[in-house]
Amino acid sequence: MLTTEQSWHPGARCRDADPELFFAKAAERAAIASAKRICAGCPVREQCLSQALEDESLEGIWGGTTERERTAARLRLRLTTFRRSA
Ligand code: SF4
Repeated sequence: MLTTEQSWHPGARCRDADPELFFAKAAERAAIASAKRICAGCPVREQCLSQALEDESLEGIWGGTTERERTAARLRLRLTTFRRSA
């Protein structure tokens, strides 16, 4: 969900969506699934996900991922980077 202004924001599919979907609690699976369906058809999903992976302070659904999923992705990336440098 958009909280800062970026050049790709005008293309965001969630601009007119219910913000509650994108900031649902982990147990609210139906809302999370709805947000992810919106993200799946978003033309700026790649840019959105890239920003969310870089900025660990962002909350909610970004680029079709939850905070937990992004944390896991960052850990996998750090592990891969560590293994390559070892
Ligand atoms: S990927 Fe999802 S959260 Fe990101 S801009 Fe598109 S609809 Fe919004």
